[in-house]
Amino acid sequence: MPTSPPPGRWNDVARATGLLGPDGAVAQTIFAEMTALAARTGAINLGQGFPDVDGPEFIRTAAKDAIDAGRNQYPPGDGVPELRRAIADHQLRHYGLDVDPDTEVLVTTGATEALAASILALAGPGDEVVTLEPFYDSHAAGIALAGATHVPVPLTAEGFRLDAAALRAAVTPRTRLIVLNTPHNPTGTVLTRAELEQVAAIARESDAVVLTDEVYEHLTFGDAVHVPIATLPGMAERTLTVSSSGKTFSLTGWKVGWVHGPAELVTAVRTVKQFLTYTSGAPFQPAIARALGDDETPRALATSLAARRDLLCEGLTAAGFDVVVPQGTYFVVADGAHLLGRLGVADGHDLCRRLPELAGVVGVPVSAFCRPGSPTSAALASRVRFTFVKREDVLRDAVGRLHRLAS
Ligand code: PMP
Ligand code: GLN
Repeated sequence: MPTSPPPGRWNDVARATGLLGPDGAVAQTIFAEMTALAARTGAINLGQGFPDVDGPEFIRTAAKDAIDAGRNQYPPGDGVPELRRAIADHQLRHYGLDVDPDTEVLVTTGATEALAASILALAGPGDEVVTLEPFYDSHAAGIALAGATHVPVPLTAEGFRLDAAALRAAVTPRTRLIVLNTPHNPTGTVLTRAELEQVAAIARESDAVVLTDEVYEHLTFGDAVHVPIATLPGMAERTLTVSSSGKTFSLTGWKVGWVHGPAELVTAVRTVKQFLTYTSGAPFQPAIARALGDDETPRALATSLAARRDLLCEGLTAAGFDVVVPQGTYFVVADGAHLLGRLGVADGHDLCRRLPELAGVVGVPVSAFCRPGSPTSAALASRVRFTFVKREDVLRDAVGRLHRLAS
C-alpha cells in the first residue's frame, strides 16, 4: 500500500496552498486545522470565519417551505430563475449594474465554485494569473488546479494597500486573469475607487479579464465604500464578479454563490461549472432569492460588526498586538512581533498552535494566505488573523483571555 497519495494535480494544489509538509505529509486547510484545534482544546475559535448565530428566520423558513413545496430535485444548471432575477436586481439596485439574468448570471455552489470554475475556464498551462498577496487560499488552489502560473502581487507593508506599480510590473502578455478580492480577506482592506481605477487601467491595457471576489461586499465599516470594479468605465465587458449569500446573510453552510459578467465569459464558466457540481442547493436557492430583497439584514450586520471589530481591535492592542484596523470583512490582522520572543514562539504559525494553551483562543496565521516561502510570507510571518464575527459576549471573553499575553 502506498504511504502517500499517487502523483497528480492534488500535489500542485497542496504545494500552492502550503499544505504539503517537508516530510510529504498532507495537511487540511488552515481553517480546518485551527477549527479542530479549537474543538480539541475548548479554546474560543477566532480562526475560521463563520458567525456563531444563524441568519434571519424568514430566510430559514423560506428554505423549509421550499422543501415542503417539493423543490428538492435538480434545479436548472444556471440556477432557479427567481434567484438569477434577484441577483440581477441586487446588482442594479446597489451598483447600477445592468445584468441579464438569463445569459449573464450563474448560480454556483458558493463563491468557491464560482472562483474555481472561472479560473479553470479561462486559464491553463502557460498562462499567468495575478492575485494580490496575501490572498484567500482557494484562489491559489484554483490556479494550481488549472495548471496556470500564480503571480502574487504584495499589498503594501504599510496599511495593506494596492501597490499599482508592482501590479503593473507583474502583468505580462501571458496574464489571462487578474484576481481581486475586495473587501479583502484576510486584511480587511476595501479597495478605493482610485485604486480600482489603477487596476482597471492595467487590465484594459493588457487585455486581461478581472475576476473579482466580492463576498464581503456588504460588510464595510465607517466611511469605506465597496465599489465593484465592473462599474468602472470599460470594465463590465471584461469582469467576472463573484459573490455569495454566506457572509451577507450569515448562512455560510448553505453555499449559495454566483458569478456574473458578459455572456461570453459566463458561457465559458458555465461550461466548466456544469461538470463540477452541475447544480446544488435546490431549496436554498429560492430562499436566497427572497433574502436578496432584504437590504436591512446586511446593513444591520455591518453596523454590529463594526462595533465588534472595535472591541476585538482594542483587546488585541491591549494584549500587545499591533493591529491594522480593517475597513471591512470579518477579520483583523494583528502583528504579534512584540510578543513572540517573550512567549518563546517562533512565528505566527507557531503562535497559533500555542494560543489555546497560552490564552484559550484560536487564530489563523497570515502566512497561510501567502505563497509558501514568498517574501510576503516572510514579511508577514508574525501576523495572525482573528475573526470578530462572534457574539459580543464571546468576544469579550476572548479579549479577557488574550489579555493574559500582556503580563
Ligand atoms: N472568498 C473569500 C474571500 C472568502 O473569505 C470566502 C470564505 N468565506 C469565500 C470566497 C468562499 O465563499 P463560499 O463559502 O460562498 O464558497
Ligand atoms: N472563508 C472562511 C475564512 O476565511 C473559511 C472558509 C473555509 O473554511 N474554507 O475563514
